[in-house]
Amino acid sequence: MSERGISTRRSAVVWRGPSVFTGNPVQVVMTGIDLKSVNEKTGPMVQISVLPQGRNPSLDFGTPREHDVCGDCALTGRGAKRVCYAAYLAWLHGQHMERYRALSLIEARIALAGKPVRVGSYGDPAAVPFDVWNELLVRVDNWTGYTHAWRTCDERFRHLLMASVETTEGYLEARRRGWRTFRMKLPSFAVHPGEVRCPYETCGVQCVKCRLCCGTERPAKSIVVNAHGVGAGGSLRFVQKELFP
Ligand code: SF4
Repeated sequence: MSERGISTRRSAVVWRGPSVFTGNPVQVVMTGIDLKSVNEKTGPMVQISVLPQGRNPSLDFGTPREHDVCGDCALTGRGAKRVCYAAYLAWLHGQHMERYRALSLIEARIALAGKPVRVGSYGDPAAVPFDVWNELLVRVDNWTGYTHAWRTCDERFRHLLMASVETTEGYLEARRRGWRTFRMKLPSFAVHPGEVRCPYETCGVQCVKCRLCCGTERPAKSIVVNAHGVGAGGSLRFVQKELFP
């Protein structure tokens, strides 16, 4: 996805239905279908987001409606309490989402065939039924994806997604439950024996080439990364002290 904007021509709504988390209406949106724009970290991947229907997602920050697409993720919130790095993407979607064209799941599956896909650029994939993702991803080249709902979601997501964790306790519990994990930590915190540092962080390898964040589909170590995104802000560092004790 371009850092400057989202082309509606290369974007589409591919599923609409009730949120698994709340029952309120949500939608699945693909952007960058032609792979011509590039996210610096992921490289050229089709980006798929879970968004509320009919509302700018950024208006929901810190409100109960954010649970529709993000569940109980601890990174949600408003202002200084918000740790999630995807605020700008949510705002961009809000500017364009009414003009996204609609594709059926079959059409979307064909559009994605042979391409690399990032699942959950915004929103938690577990807000959408597993079978929808299973249908969408069946012919893709590779994917990355993450969920904070690993304690409660459909267990089949273990095969597609990484469990997002922010504490050692969360890491250990998710591993016991059979997940590979993606742990965000402060730079001074240790790397556990079952983890490997994200190759983008250590040597600049983009997700499209790395392909490690695809759940148990790959029998590899879990991933650990230092806190990033809006990390330059003093407010984030303050929140992190609470979130990563
Ligand atoms: S481990 Fe690989 S796929 Fe996962 S975030 Fe890092 S570069 Fe991307």
